[in-house]
Amino acid sequence: MVGYVYDDIFTLHGVDSHIENRHRVLTINEVAKNFPFLRLNALKAEKEELYKIHQREYVDWVERAYDEGYRFILNEDTVLTKDSFKVASYAAGSTKPVVDAFAKGILKRAFLNIRPPGHHAEFKTGQGFCIFNNVAFMARYAQSRGFEKILIIDFDVHHGNGTQDIFYRDNTVFYFSTHERNNYPYFTGSEDEIGEGPGEGYNLNRPYGDYCDDETLLRLYDDLPDWFDFDMVLVSAGYDLMREEFISTAQITFEGLRSLIKKIIGFSKGKPVAFLLEGGYELSSLAKSAEVTFEELFKE
Ligand SMILES: [Zn+2]
Repeated sequence: MVGYVYDDIFTLHGVDSHIENRHRVLTINEVAKNFPFLRLNALKAEKEELYKIHQREYVDWVERAYDEGYRFILNEDTVLTKDSFKVASYAAGSTKPVVDAFAKGILKRAFLNIRPPGHHAEFKTGQGFCIFNNVAFMARYAQSRGFEKILIIDFDVHHGNGTQDIFYRDNTVFYFSTHERNNYPYFTGSEDEIGEGPGEGYNLNRPYGDYCDDETLLRLYDDLPDWFDFDMVLVSAGYDLMREEFISTAQITFEGLRSLIKKIIGFSKGKPVAFLLEGGYELSSLAKSAEVTFEELFKE
């Protein structure tokens, strides 16, 4: 059984003139209709739960920011509209029913068609289209349900600086990222950022140069930590690495993406694996990318 989360609530944040808009999840949801998913209901994250991954002051500020006249976080990359706090709370919180289904043994795999995305949201602030860090929220919630060690694999074309930040001193969550070197957020994501203190050795960045092809990307995944004894795999699935996308120079084909998804599922060794939507902005490419991902999720 493969789980799936989507709700129209995810269309309520943002504006259509921004590339990170509601049409992304609507497009993916049309593709999902052709697959026999076990559909799970969206669920809100409570503030007390968000405090486990974000500074209390930041979470509380997001809740009241729109009413106080703020229309973005840090800069116009990350817009705040009337329902942004609620939608971001649902994006993070909708990871809970997936973990619960994993814990009950109902599911082994899932796709979360959620937005706003999360991997750029650091402990103290959102940024880069991200408000709350959904994958970090899911990792902490999974730990509260007895999944002690979590491997996060991030194939979005951008470095997940937020996820790295939240778990940098943590040896219970391993963060692995491949991303384009000369791209947002620019000042994080180098190979020498390996974690700190107890987290040293539990953060692995594998940046690539411009015009990355399938072969180059897939080779980087040979560096996944085979010694890390994880209980769950969470994937920051950013489809902005595809050839059709304008936000990077990466040249990944659908065949390459399929091989990547296969490799990740194979690496999960039968442990629960969840794909969380991060980037991906060209709608036709996004639809095909989702289809490839779903096809692989449904294979034995
Ligand atoms: Zn991205």
